[in-house]
Amino acid sequence: MSDPTPEPAPDSQEPRREPIPEVLHSFYEDRAFVSCTRCGESLSDFEDGYRISKNFKKGEVLVEYALCMPCLTAMLDEASEESKRQLAEFQEKHYREGVSGFDECALCPRTIDEARNEEFGLVGVCHGDDMVDSAMICIDCMEAMAETMSEETRRTWDKFREENFPGVPSDFEPFPPRPAPSLL
Ligand SMILES: [Zn+2]
Ligand SMILES: [Zn+2]
Repeated sequence: MSDPTPEPAPDSQEPRREPIPEVLHSFYEDRAFVSCTRCGESLSDFEDGYRISKNFKKGEVLVEYALCMPCLTAMLDEASEESKRQLAEFQEKHYREGVSGFDECALCPRTIDEARNEEFGLVGVCHGDDMVDSAMICIDCMEAMAETMSEETRRTWDKFREENFPGVPSDFEPFPPRPAPSLL
């Protein structure tokens, strides 16, 4: 009889480095992301790394971007104080300790196969050619996070979306979640 119990995840403090998986490569450029979507600088030049976000629906890429940490911080800083506080509270309440990778939502027990409309976001925190952390967020959690945003904060992200991705639906992830707050 085989033992179905999965091995417990190693309780490691060191972030695990792995090559950036192809699913987080740029679909539109057909290669790994090389520059920041917002400032255009080369991603490998950022010592603090960068974050890749891709949203999928029924197997299609809705939106994708890579933000260097200074740009990500700048985008987050533009949020209103109230939005920042509410988002932080939301994440604190729902963040699932020890859950990373793309199989399960970082904020609820749904698996990637259980995401409504096959819609979810994938996030990877990267340094150079390596990914050091990753997360999947299901559409329900993305929508719940969007609801914590003020109008003003949504407009910041809407503007970013319109400037970079004309024509994508307006339910674009308004505020990318932080898969590992300790890394940012
Ligand atoms: Zn940038
Ligand atoms: Zn979820």
